[in-house]
Amino acid sequence: MMHNEQDALRFPWPEAPEPGVPVEVAPGILWVRFPLPFRLDHVNIYLIADGDGWAVVDTGISDDVTREAWGALLNGPLAGQPLTRLIVTHFHPDHIGLAGWLCAEFGIPLLTSQTSFLMCNVISLTPGAAEAKPYRDFYLRHGMDAETAQMVSTQGHQYLQMVAPLPPTFLRLLSGDTLTIGGRQFRVYSGDGHAPEQIMLYLPEEKILLAADQVIARITPNISVWAVDPDGDPLGHYLRTTRTLESHVPEDTLVLPGHELPFYGLAERCRQIVNHHEDRCRMITEACADGPKSVAELVPVVFQRPLDPHQLSFAFSETHAHVNRLIRRGELAWIERNGGVACVLAK
Ligand SMILES: [Zn+2]
Repeated sequence: MMHNEQDALRFPWPEAPEPGVPVEVAPGILWVRFPLPFRLDHVNIYLIADGDGWAVVDTGISDDVTREAWGALLNGPLAGQPLTRLIVTHFHPDHIGLAGWLCAEFGIPLLTSQTSFLMCNVISLTPGAAEAKPYRDFYLRHGMDAETAQMVSTQGHQYLQMVAPLPPTFLRLLSGDTLTIGGRQFRVYSGDGHAPEQIMLYLPEEKILLAADQVIARITPNISVWAVDPDGDPLGHYLRTTRTLESHVPEDTLVLPGHELPFYGLAERCRQIVNHHEDRCRMITEACADGPKSVAELVPVVFQRPLDPHQLSFAFSETHAHVNRLIRRGELAWIERNGGVACVLAK
């Protein structure tokens, strides 16, 4: 299925470039890959021609490898060409990690959504907030094991290890804005579900969409319920954004995503991702037809491969996102079982 899915998309650059080597994907738009020390081992950075320099989109995480990669790029292929401003798509470490460093080092402003700026600062100012009892109890109530609950509760500290302090000020980007970069008028969109108020830039004249992590070719972006918003519906928000993109952005648009390869076939990819989530919803309702299941019991229904604790924490929160969507749709209902473990039952 994966193979056929990819066949329906078109990849103008079938091979990823070497890390740190810029590729011109459109006149005045460069694509650069930086390494990440995760299973997802890279992030895409874009540079948009802006006068005599470059506006940067996203940064990579804050570590020595990424700082050196930036140094090599700016002293090598882009030597003598200044950075003019930094646009950050969302608050995840691989996208915002070096924002504070880049802005200070090159004296450039940060442009991002209000939510991205606030989320990053909230975690940075109170990294231990997620350890609070109500949050930990939330995961335990849904059947998460203590080891994974510990990992999820302490992730604020892990976040800080990958993110340099933000600059004190930013310029807010809001959906509906027009952002002029190098004489070109980008429409600002924001998406939700993967990260709140994730910024995307669309250039209608040239049919180019910088899609951040909203739509990616080979992988589906993580969609998670978090303890701070326990009844939230991030999957519903994600699907709503996907429908908006499908209806506003023409099919022959070049999609420049935050990970994996640039591609053509946005509407097709949106359909594939919607179907992927519908499949998971169906697996969950079928499993619950046999009797009530906790979110923890549904994780292996949706994720049938072995998971390490880190993967399990994401799988758990992603499974929860599907459960909350099904609750909203009226296809599942919560019941209490076994001394308070919350379970879902097919209606
Ligand atoms: Zn990302």
